[in-house]
Amino acid sequence: MNHSNFYSDKKYCDCCDKYVSYLMSVESSFCVECGNEVHLFSKEDWKSFHKNLEARRPKGGRPRKDRGKESA
Ligand SMILES: [Zn+2]
Repeated sequence: MNHSNFYSDKKYCDCCDKYVSYLMSVESSFCVECGNEVHLFSKEDWKSFHKNLEARRPKGGRPRKDRGKESA
């Protein structure tokens, strides 16, 4: 796990279509260039990030049913 700080200085701005420096507020971060909200990953990186997570998850585990109806 050495990519945890890979993007630590930059986040992805949809508007600028690149990783940008950002301003952090309590809930979100904003592009310093255009002021739009930025994301930790671009959509493509986000997908591969999730793929990584899934690949790391051991297969064959029992799917856990939620007790109760917590998910709407
Ligand atoms: Zn921007």
